Amino acid sequence: MNYVQRGFFWVGIYLCLVLTPLFVLLLAPGLSGSGFWWDFSIALGFAGTSMMGAMFVLTARFRHAAAPFGIDLIYYFHRWIALVAFIFIIVHPAILLFLEPVFLEDLRISVISWHMLAGVISLITLTILMVTSLWRQQLKIHYDAWRIWHTLFAITALGLAIVHIEGVGNYVSSPWKRILWAAISACCLILLLYVRLIKPLVLLRHPYRVEQVVKERGDAWTLVLRPQGHSGFTFMPGQFAWLTLRNSPFALKEHPFSISSSAMQPQEIQFTIKELGDFTRRIKDVFPGQTAYLDGPYGAFSMDRHPSSDYVFIAGGIGIAPIMGMLRTLADRGDSRSLLLIYAYKTWEGLTFQEELEKLKEHLHLRVVYVLDTPPDNWQGESGFITDELLARHLPVAMNQHEYYLCGPVVMTAMVEKALRRQGVPLHQIHSEIFNLA
Ligand SMILES: Cc1cc2nc3c(=O)[nH]c(=O)nc-3n(C[C@H](O)[C@H](O)[C@H](O)COP(=O)(O)OP(=O)(O)OC[C@H]3O[C@@H](n4cnc5c(N)ncnc54)[C@H](O)[C@@H]3O)c2cc1C
Repeated sequence: MNYVQRGFFWVGIYLCLVLTPLFVLLLAPGLSGSGFWWDFSIALGFAGTSMMGAMFVLTARFRHAAAPFGIDLIYYFHRWIALVAFIFIIVHPAILLFLEPVFLEDLRISVISWHMLAGVISLITLTILMVTSLWRQQLKIHYDAWRIWHTLFAITALGLAIVHIEGVGNYVSSPWKRILWAAISACCLILLLYVRLIKPLVLLRHPYRVEQVVKERGDAWTLVLRPQGHSGFTFMPGQFAWLTLRNSPFALKEHPFSISSSAMQPQEIQFTIKELGDFTRRIKDVFPGQTAYLDGPYGAFSMDRHPSSDYVFIAGGIGIAPIMGMLRTLADRGDSRSLLLIYAYKTWEGLTFQEELEKLKEHLHLRVVYVLDTPPDNWQGESGFITDELLARHLPVAMNQHEYYLCGPVVMTAMVEKALRRQGVPLHQIHSEIFNLA
C-alpha cells in the first residue's frame, strides 16, 4: 500500500472507532423516543466520549499509523478534534437542561446521584484540560508539568464519563452496548499500559551512548549518539525522534529533535539543538558516555517522500537542522540534482553550519542564499525578510516543478508559504516542519 492508501485505511479505522458507539446506540432497545433534540443530545454525548477515547489512540505514537500523515499532523488533528469533542460533550447537558430545566434540581449536592456526579466532575475536568491546553503558554504552565497533568486529567475525564454512561444505564442496557463500553474501557487501559509501561520498557532495552557534544555557531550544540548493544533504527532524512537524557524513559521527559545527520549513517545519530529553555540550555553539560534514549523515527518532512528533479530548501534559524540532515544524505548518496538553500539567520557569525555548507557546495549541485537580519557592514548578500521579491530573484525559473521544504520560526514559515503560493507554487509541493507540537 502507498502512503495515500495507508492514509485512507487509518482514517477508516479512526472513523470506525468514533462512530461505532453511535451505531450501537441505534440497536434495540432503541432510543428513549423523547423527541429529536433529546436523542440528538444523547448522541452528542456518546460521540464526544468515543472521540475522547480515540484521543488515546491518536497520541500513542503508533509509527505505522502515523507514517502516512506525519506525527505533527496527528498532534494538530488531536488538538482540534479534541475541541470538537469538547463542544459535543458540553452541548449534551446544555440541550437536556434547556429541554427539562427541572433536571437542575437533581444536580443539587444533597440529592445528586453518583453517576450524575461522575458526569459533572468529568465535565469540569475536561474544561480544565481544554483551558490549560489551549492557553498553556499564556498561563505560563511548564511543558513537562502540563504533560503529566494533561494525561491525568484525560484519564479522569474519560473514566468518569464511562461511569456516567454506565450509571445512567438507559442507553447501555442491552448486552451489546455493555460489551461495547467495556471494550472501549479495556482498550483505553491497554493503550495506557502500552504508552506508560511497554514502550518505555522497550526504549530502556535499546539505549544510546553520547559520543560527542560539539559546539556549533549560534548557541547550538550537536549531540552525537550511537546505539549500545543494538542496531538502532533506520530513518528518512529530515525525520525526528524524541530524546530522553538524564531520565529513564518511564519519566516521559522527552523532547523532539530533528535528526541533523545523514540517513546513510544510521549508526551515528546527530541532533543539533539550540539553547532555548530548561532542557536545551543544559545540553552543553551533557558529557560523552552518558546514556540517552530515542523514540523514533517520526515525521513526514523528508525529500525521500516526494521524489523530484530538483529541491528548494528554506530554513530559518535552527530550522536548518532537518535540512542539514537532507543535504548530508544527498551528499553521501552522491546526488547530482540541482538544489537551492535559502537560509535566514540573525547574524553571519551565528550562522549554524556555515563552514560545512560551504564545503557541501563542493560535493553537491547546491546554491546557498544567506538572508541576514543584521548583516555585517560589507555584506553584499540578501538581508531582511524572505519576501516575494527575494524569492522571485532566486527561485528557479520552472518553480512549480520543484518540491519545497520549509523549516523555521512559525511566523517565517507561514509568510514564506504564502509567498510561495503567490509565486505559483502548488500547495502540495510545499512541505513544512513546525518545531512546536504543543
Ligand atoms: C518535530 C520537532 C523537531 C524539532 N527539532 C529541533 C531541532 O532539531 N533543534 C532544536 O533546537 N529544536 C528542535 N525542536 C524544538 C525543541 O523540541 C524545543 O525547543 C525543546 O523541546 C524546548 O525545550 P526546553 O525545555 O529547552 O524549552 P522550554 O522553554 O521548556 O519550552 C519551550 C517550548 O518548547 C516546546 N516544548 C518544550 N518541551 C517540549 C517537549 N518535551 N515536547 C514538545 N515540545 C516541547 C513547548 O511549546 C514549550 O513552550 C523541534 C521540535 C519539534 C516539534
